[in-house]
Amino acid sequence: MDKNFQGQESAQVVKFTPPLYKQRYQFVKDLVEKYKPEKVADLGCADCRLLWMLKFCSCIEVLAGLDISASVMKEKMHTLSPLPVDYLWPSERSLTITLYHGSVAHKDPCMLGFDLVTCMELIEHLEESELKKFPEVVFGFMAPSIVVISTPNSEFNPLLPGVKLHRHPDHKFEWSQAEFQSWALEAARCYDYSVEFTGVGHPPTGMENVGFCTQIGVFIRKYPQTGESVQSVKPTEAVYKTVFKAVYPSLKDEKYLQNAVVSEVIFTAQIIRNLLMSQHEEEEEEEDPEGKCKFQASVDFFSDHLGKVVVDKSMEPFVNGNEVYIPLETIFSFPKVNRLCGNFEKLCKLIAGKVTLSSDGSAVMLSTEHE
Ligand code: SAH
Repeated sequence: MDKNFQGQESAQVVKFTPPLYKQRYQFVKDLVEKYKPEKVADLGCADCRLLWMLKFCSCIEVLAGLDISASVMKEKMHTLSPLPVDYLWPSERSLTITLYHGSVAHKDPCMLGFDLVTCMELIEHLEESELKKFPEVVFGFMAPSIVVISTPNSEFNPLLPGVKLHRHPDHKFEWSQAEFQSWALEAARCYDYSVEFTGVGHPPTGMENVGFCTQIGVFIRKYPQTGESVQSVKPTEAVYKTVFKAVYPSLKDEKYLQNAVVSEVIFTAQIIRNLLMSQHEEEEEEEDPEGKCKFQASVDFFSDHLGKVVVDKSMEPFVNGNEVYIPLETIFSFPKVNRLCGNFEKLCKLIAGKVTLSSDGSAVMLSTEHE
């Protein structure tokens, strides 16, 4: 018995584990892991579940959903909004998610420039006139490098309990493997794509010729295309309506980068200050001739947790009265600060006016007291 199919004889209870829709979404996720598209559009996105899964794929910077039913999209679109944690720790990548209300039978420039377009269980919902326009809109106009289309395989239907004509009352048709493949091969030929057929939901052992419960075509564009040329060659009027847009906080945005750098600089300075002060306290208790070396040893201990820290002699922090001075060079040598800023000048620019510095601007000043 196949691992994702549990049933005894045909027409008996058939159960897929995981459920078939999850296998379809996982198929798309695997495709994303393989091809690493930056821009992904899901056509017929319904309640945005696939989009929600895809927002966690770190390669994706632009996600778009399109559906002819605004109400179905709106049901769970709030799940696509950034969470407080996204603001607390902005991601290094940028991510914009937009939902459009419209039909795949119409062209809209907002659908240009995508790398991957997914059409999961969509085509069987299209009226004949819409299905006719679909290849020109998706392969001709949107022309992404990859298109994935899934649709029910009607040959599997006798194995599904309770299915008479179609699996869903809104399905306008359900195709056999031969019907889907001939439609897909013709679309691929017309628009210069290659197509490979696969699916999810294995048939029971001994009935392999029935094929997958969900049949899938993965289309790969054969010719190269650049985003800019697409925009200029295809002037089209906007017809879709934007129903949702979320721009995730990202370190690519200067204001979030500045917040992150300032927090990290203060955090790093406080660690150094605390090390220095506990060393001072110890020194007061027992006279230690190796004072500064002990500080170096403590910083080395922290470097195991924070990454490699190089502190040369001129960069050592010192105490003056009630203030601790921590050279910016020292803070910059901490990998996280270093990686966030890229160069020392950028560090100085980002913290200017946000962190208390010594009069010459070379060191962060903190009170000797623990805050
Ligand atoms: N892709 C989702 C939902 C499939 S149901 C999934 O795999 O779970 C099909 C969806 O296509 C429905 O939400 C329906 O509203 C939408 N749809 C039907 N005709 C459409 C059209 N012409 N343009 C865009 N979306 C359409």
